[in-house]
Amino acid sequence: MSSAVDERITDELEALEAILMDDVTIKSVDGVPHMIETVVHPSTGDDTDQQFVCVTLEVKLTPGYPDTSPEVYLRNPRGLDDEVLAVINSQIKEKLNDCLGQPVVFELIELIRENLTESNLPSGQCVICLYGFAEGDVFIKTQCYHHFHSHCLANHLISGRKYYDEELEKLPSWQQMQAPAYQQTCPVCRCPVSCDVDTLKKAPPPVDSITAPPFCLTAELKALQLKMAALLQQQIAKGGVVGVGDTGPPPLTITSPADNDNEATNTSSSSQVGAKAAEVAIGHTRPSGNGSNDSSTPASPQRSAYRGPYRGFNRRGKPGRRGRGAAVAPR
Ligand SMILES: [Zn+2]
Ligand SMILES: [Zn+2]
Repeated sequence: MSSAVDERITDELEALEAILMDDVTIKSVDGVPHMIETVVHPSTGDDTDQQFVCVTLEVKLTPGYPDTSPEVYLRNPRGLDDEVLAVINSQIKEKLNDCLGQPVVFELIELIRENLTESNLPSGQCVICLYGFAEGDVFIKTQCYHHFHSHCLANHLISGRKYYDEELEKLPSWQQMQAPAYQQTCPVCRCPVSCDVDTLKKAPPPVDSITAPPFCLTAELKALQLKMAALLQQQIAKGGVVGVGDTGPPPLTITSPADNDNEATNTSSSSQVGAKAAEVAIGHTRPSGNGSNDSSTPASPQRSAYRGPYRGFNRRGKPGRRGRGAAVAPR
């Protein structure tokens, strides 16, 4: 019942919609507003290229609001470390106490915006090279508010494209035709991005990578190597490592297309793990001439259809990794 809604709330919501327009979402249940959501950016005028941080403010209106405090959440922080978020959260708490009895959403937005403007710098490291962002670095902010050195992102996108092409090449032609087109994605959150690789490529390598002292194997690193080698042996012995040598329990067996013709005899002599892998392979094999109604399957008794384990597109819509998990992974 909208008539039951407190006038202070309706006035606040009208003002929010008038000022923020499409940037605010108000969710209602049975005509009663219960959630206000908006993405807060630092104030940089109209220059959105200079906004390196953002956060989604979610305000859940309690039944007694504004005489009781709403529930306030900060979601999807971008470029903000935990310390900054903790500061904002404690300021929000104070503000909620100070503003009991009056609408508070604008005050919250303003408070968050001030903090974001102060912290409007890409924080953390470039996840590709693991160096920070130093004076003189050329970096890029993706549409999803993640930051990378332009140089690093260029390399990442170039090798991503190369990997896609290589995997596509391995597929039978009918699967190649169905394959989704290549899409650049953010290395952090996998959101689709669109970057001009040629421009990115022109950027210099990260400053810290140039000024970093040359690598040297210290006594500390040698000790760590020994510790990790012992750990690896322990994991191999427990069957926790797939695809290395003949030690420990048998690793996962990936059958090749030709093996499937003899799958019955193979499975009977395989180890349990091997049998399981063969089952997986059988499950995805499309035997020809079984009267399948699937019109997309080019199955015919005359021509040899693709009979190998399914190498198609995984859930992320990228070509399957033929090499990964193979019994022997030559490096
Ligand atoms: Zn980098
Ligand atoms: Zn991202």
